[in-house]
Order: sequence, then C-alpha cells, then structure tokens
Amino acid sequence: MAYLLLYNPGMKMQNTLRNKIEFSGIGLHTGHEINVKILPAKEDTGIVFIRKDVPSSPFIKAAAENVVATNYATTIGKRGVAVSTIEHLMAAFYGLGVDNAVVEIDGPEVPIMDGSASHFIDMIETSGLKQLESLKKYLVIKEPIKVADRDKYVIISPSEDNEFIVDYSIDFAHPFLTKQSFSGLFSGDVFRDGVGRARTFGFLRDLEMLRKNGLAKGGSLDNAIVISDTEILNEEGLRYPDEFVRHKVLDLMGDISLVGAPVIGQIKAHRSGHELNHRLVQEILKWPDRWELVDYTPKDTVEIPRHRLIEKMASI
Ligand SMILES: [Zn+2]
Repeated sequence: MAYLLLYNPGMKMQNTLRNKIEFSGIGLHTGHEINVKILPAKEDTGIVFIRKDVPSSPFIKAAAENVVATNYATTIGKRGVAVSTIEHLMAAFYGLGVDNAVVEIDGPEVPIMDGSASHFIDMIETSGLKQLESLKKYLVIKEPIKVADRDKYVIISPSEDNEFIVDYSIDFAHPFLTKQSFSGLFSGDVFRDGVGRARTFGFLRDLEMLRKNGLAKGGSLDNAIVISDTEILNEEGLRYPDEFVRHKVLDLMGDISLVGAPVIGQIKAHRSGHELNHRLVQEILKWPDRWELVDYTPKDTVEIPRHRLIEKMASI
C-alpha cells in the first residue's frame, strides 16, 4: 500500500482567496461557453454560487442540503436555480484549504476545462490564499458511518493519525478498468500532483446514449479520457497509470466537502459515485453524535521529501 500526502489538515485559521479569479470554458453537458468569476469572501461564508444569467438568482451555498441531483455530476440548486458539475472546483477548494469564496457564474454548470481540477488548482495557487480571523473547524469522525448500494459502498471511520485518509477501489467490467485501487493520506501540498490532474473518463459506448439524452454536448477528447472496448482514444494517453481511480478520489473529495467542514477520518470506498458520496454526507449529518466539530491544532505536519513522494507515486 502506498500513501500520498495530499490534503492539508494542518491549517488553523479559515482562508479565502487573496485575489479574484476569472476564467471561461465549455460546459460538459450544455456545450456552451460559460464565464466564471471567483471572489474572496469573509469568514463563515463557505463556498457560495450565484447565477449571474438568472435575474435575482439566490445565493446557493455548496452544502449537502442544496444538492438537487447526483446523476453524472453533483448539482446544487435553490428556488429552481441550479449549478451543475461543481465537484472538481469544490475538490480544488477543499484540497487547497479555501474555506470561503463566492463563485459568480453565467450558466448552469461549472466549465469542465480539461476534465480534472488542474486549471482550478493553478488559478487558486496563482491567486494565493488570504488567512482570515476565524478559526477553521474540522469535522472529526468518532464512530464509523456507512452507506451501501449492493456491492458499492463508502464507509468513514475514525482516523488514528488525525488525518483525512482515502482508500478507494474501482472494478469496472472493462479490460482497462478492472480493479484499480488508490490509498492516500491527504495532507500537504501534493494534492495537485496526486489526484488534482486526474481527468474524468467515459466509455465511447455511453457517449451516444448521453447525447441522446441531451448530455455531454461539450464532451471531447480535450476534457475527458474516452475509452472504447479496446483502446484509450486520447492520443496523449494517461497522465497516471491509474488515472481512473485517482479521478474518483477527486470526485469524492469534492462531494465530501459538501459536509461543510474539512473532515478528519478514514474513508474506504468501493465503486462509489456522486450519489453514494452524497448519501454518505447526508448520513454523516444525520448522526451528529458520531462526530464532533473541533478547532484542530494538529501535530506538526510531517514533511516527506519530494523525491520520496515521486518514488511512491511511481510505485502505485
Ligand atoms: Zn469527476
């Protein structure tokens, strides 16, 4: 088993962005160009979306109670106004420790960019973080919580090391995708290298069906790994040998962030997806006696030399 340090539970204070971020891109499902502006926000705002193309759009907080759909992507909404495909941007906020921001968007979905969180991570890092005056709260799991659907499951248990740890396995009936697993101890600045660049993927055989249903209109080899029965269609190949499972970890991070606080716990997931991830978040919120919110003063973050991390990543 190999561990990667990805997500930083060592932060004491809440953060926002130092500067505003602006970008444009194609929506995966609508195929339209969408413009996004991300603005710094004050303490305890959380991550809030607002639709600039909808007159008097409500503020839609990225929180479990506002999730309105989990098929193909995670969608939040309020009073009939929705924003879809928030998970990769949410994973970037979560992985880099951005607690507060306002996302202004002029369309119904976050642009897919290259299908990973890579652009979001670069833009957040270029902006930099601004530390705020309030303490960051961590949600520390005290007792296991599990959700399952036939052989698919996600379970979160207490972490002995006070870390956020993910152990994820997938098993598709496809020659490229049978049994991949990924274990990560999420800490420090390697989030971007470990899972942040892993792209979403889809099967060629599903593409036609999605398009018939009016979905994936913007989908192309520029924003997804596309797999036929015999090959990967993207000329450049994979970014990691196990890019598929790493992308599932990225999705899980985005989805779990909707619990409303960085989580200290150990997640074991098998063949999970947005729906089951969301059910886990709902289940966590349903059982407040199984976790507590704490101002977390962690032990010193262990620095792992970069060359060792790269060795570890190569060995996965
Ligand atoms: Zn995804």
